[in-house]
Amino acid sequence: MKAKLQLYNTLSRKKEEFEPINPPRVGMYVCGPTVYGDPHLGHARPAITFDLLFRYLKAEGYKVRYVRNITDVGHLEHDADEGEDKIAKKARLEQLEPMEVAHYYTERYRSAMAQLNVQSPSIEPHASGHIIEQIEFIKKILESGDAYESNGSVYFDVEHYNARHHYGVLSGRNLDDIVTDTRELDGQSDKRHSYDFALWKKASPEHIMRWPSPWSDGFPGWHMECSAMSTKYLGERFDIHGGGMDLMFPHHECEIAQSSSALGHDSAKYWVHNNMITINGRKMGKSLGNFITLEELFNGTHPLLEQAYSPMTVRFFILQAHYRSTLDFSNDALKAAEKGLDRLMKGIEALGKAKPADKSTVSADELDARCEEAMADDLNSAAVISVLFDYVRIFNQLVEGQQSATAEELAKLKAVVERWAFEILGLRDEKAASAGGKDMVSPLVEMLLSMRMKAKADKDWATSDRIRDELTAIGIRVKDRKDGCDWEIE
Ligand code: ZN
Repeated sequence: MKAKLQLYNTLSRKKEEFEPINPPRVGMYVCGPTVYGDPHLGHARPAITFDLLFRYLKAEGYKVRYVRNITDVGHLEHDADEGEDKIAKKARLEQLEPMEVAHYYTERYRSAMAQLNVQSPSIEPHASGHIIEQIEFIKKILESGDAYESNGSVYFDVEHYNARHHYGVLSGRNLDDIVTDTRELDGQSDKRHSYDFALWKKASPEHIMRWPSPWSDGFPGWHMECSAMSTKYLGERFDIHGGGMDLMFPHHECEIAQSSSALGHDSAKYWVHNNMITINGRKMGKSLGNFITLEELFNGTHPLLEQAYSPMTVRFFILQAHYRSTLDFSNDALKAAEKGLDRLMKGIEALGKAKPADKSTVSADELDARCEEAMADDLNSAAVISVLFDYVRIFNQLVEGQQSATAEELAKLKAVVERWAFEILGLRDEKAASAGGKDMVSPLVEMLLSMRMKAKADKDWATSDRIRDELTAIGIRVKDRKDGCDWEIE
């Protein structure tokens, strides 16, 4: 029997059996990037976490509509209420169309995600392309009495809402805590209370990203786009809403409040949050000098990096931790991930070399069941990887004859391993891909090695060593065995 997926729901604070509202369809909404600035390490973890969930659900036979938005308007880091939009500001200063700025960074983000083997979502809606939907949503909130207009802007009335609902239900706070925690950032704000948040903001004269609305020429508050776009593409009730833990408050809390006010209920059945990445135990931040972009990581150009780390090393590093645990980035941890990935890929390669036998001491079904059980336990990719490592040992034993498998079992093992390592974990054999020419190179290397064998037989050590050293220099490692030698591209 197949293991049933148990998913941790942030809202109920416990693991729940995953039951889609309308099987086999699954609707999943994940808060995507603000397309301002180069994609960085912090983007990699949510993207890979929800890519894993997307891939796993599809592999389990669900028809998944995965919506991940592009925030290209109305968002200044974590405060949509104050000041000028960063995209708009850059566009104004450099005389660009705001859409030029947003497009540039969207492309950078997509390219980094492709390198990490993160699949494209089903829909990637832009906030700036859904102004009408956002205005309609705001009207509904005004109708419910949970918002007020003030000087051309519209704010969510948290206190009014909290009288009927619980503002803070997701992050486990109550309004009193929130009142104490919220500082008044701007004395001349049009808000009644510091914790009220903007649904619509009147644009100041220099603000170039603006749209007409019943209240003013302006732009929507950041939280609004996710409520409006998730409802448009997934309906009033959908299965999964995801994002990083840092978005839980205020962003997701505000989304819940907006939806509950306009629709009468929260939209998402399961709220899923990935934990954050720290760098040498500290939060990543520009002021701390530990802000690493993905490009720097792939090229090894940041001062904190001892070497370059390939996209698959980064992906494997992230998958080796459960998505809800903290993950500390360090050179040592990344190097360990690089070695681990290499060991896994070599194990898979070894399986391809195993010769069929009359009977099997290894079971592909058992491997599949163990991976399934691990993944069904709240997406425990770390446990799946450790099962795969158990089998790497077995695959090597198959090659060396300590274990055996029939031709049929070998084919099944290969299919199961490929399903878990490549299809679901989304790993890629980078060395095989970059050495795509190995088949062309092979005859040449084999020829050189046979010349080396002859030199050795003639006790011409100088020639034998020279061939080995020259091959090593171009990245081909020669390993001597009793009855000849093996080689691989490093
Ligand atoms: Zn969002």
